[in-house]
Amino acid sequence: MKAEIVSVGTELLLGEVSDTNAGYLASQLVLLGTEVHFITAVDDSMDRLGEVLGRAWARSDLVLVTGGLGPTQDDLTREAVACLLGEEMQVSPPLLQNLRDMFAAIGRTMSDSNIKQATLIPSAQSIPNPRGTAPGWWVERNGRLLITLPGPPQEMQRMWQVEVLPRLQALSQGQALVLRTLKCSGLTEAEAGEMAGGAGDWSNPSLGIYARADGIHLRMIARAASQDEAASMIAAAEARIRAALAGHIWGSDEDSPEAAVGRLLTERGLTLATMESCTGGLLGSLITDVPGSSAYYRGGLVAYSSEVKVAFGVEPRLIEQHGAVSREAAEAMAEAARRRLGADVGLSTTGVAGPEGAEGKAPGLAFIAVSDALGCEAVEGRYPPLRFDMKRRVAIQALFLLRRRLLAR
Ligand code: ATP
Repeated sequence: MKAEIVSVGTELLLGEVSDTNAGYLASQLVLLGTEVHFITAVDDSMDRLGEVLGRAWARSDLVLVTGGLGPTQDDLTREAVACLLGEEMQVSPPLLQNLRDMFAAIGRTMSDSNIKQATLIPSAQSIPNPRGTAPGWWVERNGRLLITLPGPPQEMQRMWQVEVLPRLQALSQGQALVLRTLKCSGLTEAEAGEMAGGAGDWSNPSLGIYARADGIHLRMIARAASQDEAASMIAAAEARIRAALAGHIWGSDEDSPEAAVGRLLTERGLTLATMESCTGGLLGSLITDVPGSSAYYRGGLVAYSSEVKVAFGVEPRLIEQHGAVSREAAEAMAEAARRRLGADVGLSTTGVAGPEGAEGKAPGLAFIAVSDALGCEAVEGRYPPLRFDMKRRVAIQALFLLRRRLLAR
C-alpha cells in the first residue's frame, strides 16, 4: 500500500507550528508496513488544498489528512474532500446531537459555525473524537482510502491509536513487518554505506543508513507473509552486516552508548569517575540517564577553569607547559578523577567549544582520556565548532573511548 500524508494549516507554512503530526503518522505507517511516498504541508487555501488532495488521491492508496477540521471559515478540509470526490456534504443528525451534547456538558452553547463539524459525505463514515469537536472522516472509494484527522496532536494521536490503526491493521493482515537497527561508530556514513551495501541485495529487507549523534544507524525492514518469516530474514541480514562491519557495531535498536558502557562496567565489576571541562557535566548527565548507574558511577567533577582542574589534582606544571586543552591535561584529568573519587576507571574531556579559539588553539579541538590501573590513553578529535553540538559529540566519543578500553581489558 502506498501512503501519503497531507498536513493542512497556514500556521505550518508560516513556520509558527512544526509539522509533528506528519512525523508521527509516518513513523506509525512504517510499523504497519505501509510505505509513505509523500508528505505535503499546505495552507488553508481551497485552491492549493484541492490541488494537493487531487494529486494525493490520484497516486496513493491511502491518504491521511490532518488539520482543517475546525468550525471556522478557514477550516476547509471537509469542503476540499467533498469537492474532490464530487459529493455533497450533509448534516448528520446523530453527529449534530453528539456535538450539542458535548457543548452542553461543558455548559456552553454551540455556535452555528460548529454545524459543519457534524457533516458527512455519502462515502464517509464518521470517526469519533472524544477529545475535541472535530470528528474525522473515513472515506473509502474504488479500493482507496482517505482519512481525515484533527490537527491538535493530542486529538489526532488518540484518534489514530484507538480508531484508525486497528482498522488499518485489520486491512493489512497477511503482511508482517520486522525492523532492526544496528548502530556503529568509527565510520563515516559513506564508509558504512559501502560496507553494508556490499553485503547483499537490499530489496527485502531494505536498508536505510542514517548519521546520528551516536554514530551511523543501519536500519533494516523485512516484509513477509508471516512474522516468523520476516524475523528470520532480518536475522540473516543482520549476520551479513555484522560480518561486513565487524568491530564497528556497538548496539542495536533502543541501545545508547551510555547504556552499552554501563553494561560493560557492570559485567566487569568496575566503577567509573569523570572530570569534565568542555562538556560541562553533559557526560555525567548521559551516564546517569541509565537506570541503575549508581552501581558503577562514583561521580563527576566539572572542572571548567584551570584553577579547578589544579584544585582537583591536575599538576599546574602540565597546564603551564601544554595548556588546559592538551593530551597531557586530559590524561591528568582522567587520572585525577579516578584517584580523587576512588574509582577503577577515570574518564575526562577537555576542548575548545568556541566560537572563539583559546590558548592559540582552534575551536572544535578536544582531547578525551581514559585512565585505569593499566595506564592512560587519550585521543584527539576535531569537531564542528558549534557549542552544543560539540559538547554532545565529545561526550559520546568519550563513552566510545571508554567502551573500547573496557573491551580490550
Ligand atoms: P480543531 O478545530 O479541533 O482545533 P483542526 O483540525 O481544525 O482542529 P487546526 O485548526 O488545523 O486543527 O489546528 C489546530 C492546532 O493544532 C494548531 O494550531 C496546531 O497547534 C496544532 N496542529 C495542527 N496541525 C498540526 C501538525 N501538522 N503538527 C503539529 N501540530 C499541529
